[in-house]
Amino acid sequence: MASALPVSLEDIRAAARRIDGRIVQTPMVRSASLSEIAGVPVWLKLEHHQTTGSFKLRGATNAVLSLSSAQRARGVVAASTGNHGRALAHAAKAQGAVATICMSRLVPENKVAEIRRLGADVRIVGRSQDEAQQEVNRLVREEGLVMVPPFDNPDIVAGQGTLGLEIIDALPEAAIVLVPLSGGGLAAGVAAAVKGVSPKVRVIGLTMEQGAAMKASLDAGRPVQVEEKPSLADSLGGGIGLDNRVTFAMCRALLDDVILLTEAEIAAGMRHAYACESEVVEGAGAVGIAALLAGKIRSGGPVVAILSGRNVDMEQHLRVINGEGAAFGEDHP
Ligand SMILES: *Cc1c(COP(=O)(O)O)cnc(C)c1O
Repeated sequence: MASALPVSLEDIRAAARRIDGRIVQTPMVRSASLSEIAGVPVWLKLEHHQTTGSFKLRGATNAVLSLSSAQRARGVVAASTGNHGRALAHAAKAQGAVATICMSRLVPENKVAEIRRLGADVRIVGRSQDEAQQEVNRLVREEGLVMVPPFDNPDIVAGQGTLGLEIIDALPEAAIVLVPLSGGGLAAGVAAAVKGVSPKVRVIGLTMEQGAAMKASLDAGRPVQVEEKPSLADSLGGGIGLDNRVTFAMCRALLDDVILLTEAEIAAGMRHAYACESEVVEGAGAVGIAALLAGKIRSGGPVVAILSGRNVDMEQHLRVINGEGAAFGEDHP
């Protein structure tokens, strides 16, 4: 029952009103090349043009705006070197709050500088993501900071869902929406929005073959851990949390399918985005295009692929574009 899920269409509509004017309503464009290949109209939701370079700003902004003024005054905290860290840094600064982002000593200097530039207070602690997370827990416990997690939180899911509202508003006749999938905040929110408005739309999660925690969890019927492997889709790495409270149940209830992509397929998706659409997209953002190119999507009607982010190391992007074997994994020696 959709009504029993932790985030409803009404929650997402409320989030859309709350973040209106603070995020970009990104364009959705028809792709001539992919429409020809797929034999049905294919539309690209250009969310990699979002401020900070990914959709994560939607959830982070909604979460920060949903805090009480007392909570906001105490400041927010997260352990993320990636798109969530950037988004939270920007969202907090825009609302006059302090974001503390904890990261390990192993994080490259350019990533640290990037998050500082967005206005966050960066704390370098320990030698692993786990130790950074322990510092977050300590700051919550001892200094009263408010943790804003990257996906498993109703305000985050509702914020990401606003992307789904924009899609179904722009293309009510959509048959399939392709969503990059990691912790499931984006997929849960988009599926709740799209199916809330138009229940017949199929929503398909896309992720990499190696280290896909949500896929393994859905197969097992409960959250499980998987071994992490390096991937071109680095934003799709990481677990879903063994104590997952929001996104696992929503993905189980709302996703019609989860499709896995090899590293070579993801690289082909990035190349196609660049060569045929003039778009620089990170690996995680290219999985929809990758699935279409690989012939893994069968549809009788219009397909929408979400390009979820653009924060790729430019050296790596260049190697992928040049086909220089920049990919990881078995299929790309
Ligand atoms: C975080 C992220 C995802 C996956 O989102 P989840 O909510 O964790 O499933 C996909 N693409 C990009 C670019 C991201 O930053």
